[in-house]
Order: sequence, then structure tokens, then C-alpha cells
Amino acid sequence: MKIAFIGLGNMGAPMAANLAKAGHEVTGFDVAGASAEGVAVAESSVAAVAGAEVVITMLPNGAILRAVADEVIPAMAEGAVLLDCSTVDVESARAVASQAEAAGLGALDAPVSGGIGGAAAGTLTFMVGGSDAAFAVGKPLFDIMGQKAVHCGPSGAGQAAKICNNMILGVTMIATCEAFALADKLGLDRQSMFDVVSTSSGYSWSMNAYCPAPGVGPQSPSDNDYKPGFAAELMLKDLGLSQQAAEAADADTPMGQRALELYRSFVEDESGRGMDFSAMLPRFEKRGRG
Ligand code: NAD
Repeated sequence: MKIAFIGLGNMGAPMAANLAKAGHEVTGFDVAGASAEGVAVAESSVAAVAGAEVVITMLPNGAILRAVADEVIPAMAEGAVLLDCSTVDVESARAVASQAEAAGLGALDAPVSGGIGGAAAGTLTFMVGGSDAAFAVGKPLFDIMGQKAVHCGPSGAGQAAKICNNMILGVTMIATCEAFALADKLGLDRQSMFDVVSTSSGYSWSMNAYCPAPGVGPQSPSDNDYKPGFAAELMLKDLGLSQQAAEAADADTPMGQRALELYRSFVEDESGRGMDFSAMLPRFEKRGRG
């Protein structure tokens, strides 16, 4: 298949390389001049999409996605599918899909879970919104770049699933970190805390798979001085998207709101920028109730 890949950053480059390795003809473009193994680099996004059956985007945010969509949609081949894998707001996902469909193209929003490691290993999970016909076109590509693709519903449903998932993740990571800091102050050792909670009703992915306490549980960014991993500012971005969606949909999400406020102060005022999102634990360690 002839594929265009726009946005060859931390996630996009390994995803594009996996498609090329599987035998697809991949042409890429990144505004920063990035490239990826096995991928031919075009001079512009418009040049990259010429003749492509599928155009994949992996971009930082909804505003950039909308700008790229304005450029590429008029240049895409008849009947091609625009497949966006970025994490963006539901509104941008729906607007871009309508624009593509109005131009006679297919469209999918397909954000991912699994991070840079999953992108390199081809083990991402895709949460997909769009028509059955467009999903059928994307499915063989999801199978190369990932291990699971869930068709969640119409356009926007993939982004809705992603931001709900990451709101739970932000909240459970904070809860896990504050519980470790409390356990420290109660004199409970961290290994005992992990052994109990990871097999009791307080367990979660944050505790069991990505433990924020170094030296406890499986290897995670806490064992590497909290280098990301999944950066605190990306979690802040995703919590902003879930609160934006909650406001638009009139949903009451007080824990999501509190998690947003904590990650905002962590990133903006408490030197959390550039740290993994699990570095909330050393943040809590330093604090008392006042
Ligand atoms: P990144 O910043 O490394 O990559 C984004 C790339 O887009 C950059 O290389 C940038 O130069 C390029 N770009 C920006 N504007 C462009 C334009 N107009 N035309 C072409 N290229 C342009 O970010 P990333 O970590 O690869 O993340 C990409 C998306 O995936 C984000 O939406 C992020 O939220 C999501 N995501 C990231 C992770 C992760 O662990 N990094 C996990 C899941 C989802």
C-alpha cells in the first residue's frame, strides 16, 4: 500500500518505520526535517500525500492537525483515508473527519496507548472512531503498528476513549503517589506497600505496571531518575483535553479537575517539566499538609 506519514516525531518515526519494514511504500514529512528508517522524505506534506491510499498524521495537537488537514485534504487521492493517530480534542477530530468526508475521503481518529516503547515494538493499542469502511482500510495497518485496535464508534469516539482512559490514569497515578508518601510517614516500607496494594483492591496500572516508587515493582521511569516515559506535560495536556470535553458535554469530573490542577502546578511551578508523570511521588514526599 502507498502510505503518507506526516509527523515523524518520537511516536511517528518508529510507527512509520514499522510500516516500511512490513513492505509498505511510505513517504513521510515532518516540519522539523525528521526522517524514519525505510521512509522516503518528501519536501512538503502536500508532496507526501500525492497518490497515497492512506495518509497518517501523528502531530502534537488539534490546532496543528486542523492546519495540516487544510493543506493535505485537497491534495489527497480520490477515496483515500485520512488516519489521525495524534491525541487531540474531540471537536478537532470530528471537524477534520467531516472535512475529509465532505471531500469524498475516508477518515479515522485513532489515538494510541503504549508510548514510545510500544511504537518501536509495534505493540500499541489503537482506539478508533470512524465508519466501518474506513476502519476496514486501517485495520491491517493497526495490526502492524500495534497489537490491538478497538473500533469505538463514529468519528471522535477514539479520542473520547483516549481522554477518558488518560483521565483515569492521571487520577490513579496521583492517588498511588500520595498513598506512598502517606505510607512513608506511617513507617510502612515501600516493598510491603507494593506487595499488599498490587494484589489488593487498591491495585491499578499505575501501581502494578508503572510503580512510582523506585526499586519496587517492575522497572519503570522511577528507576531511571524519573526520566520520561510519559512526560508530566503530556499528562497535563491530556487532562486539559478531558476537562475541555467534560465542560462541552456538561459532565461532572471533579477528580479529573483536581488532577489537572495538580499536574499544572507540578509542571508550571514545581520543576516537573521534563520529568515523568510518576515524579508526583517525590513531589508529595517533600510536602506536609500545610
Ligand atoms: P513529538 O513532538 O515527538 O512529534 C510530533 C512531530 O510533529 C514533531 O516531529 C514535529 O516536528 C511534527 N510537526 C509539527 N507540526 C507539523 C506540521 N505542520 N507538519 C508536519 N510535521 C509537524 O510528539 P510525539 O511524542 O511523537 O507525540 C505525537 C502525538 O502522539 C501527540 O498528540 C501525543 O499526545 C500523542 N502520544 C504520545 C505518546 C508518547 O508517549 N510520546 C503516547 C501516546 C500518544
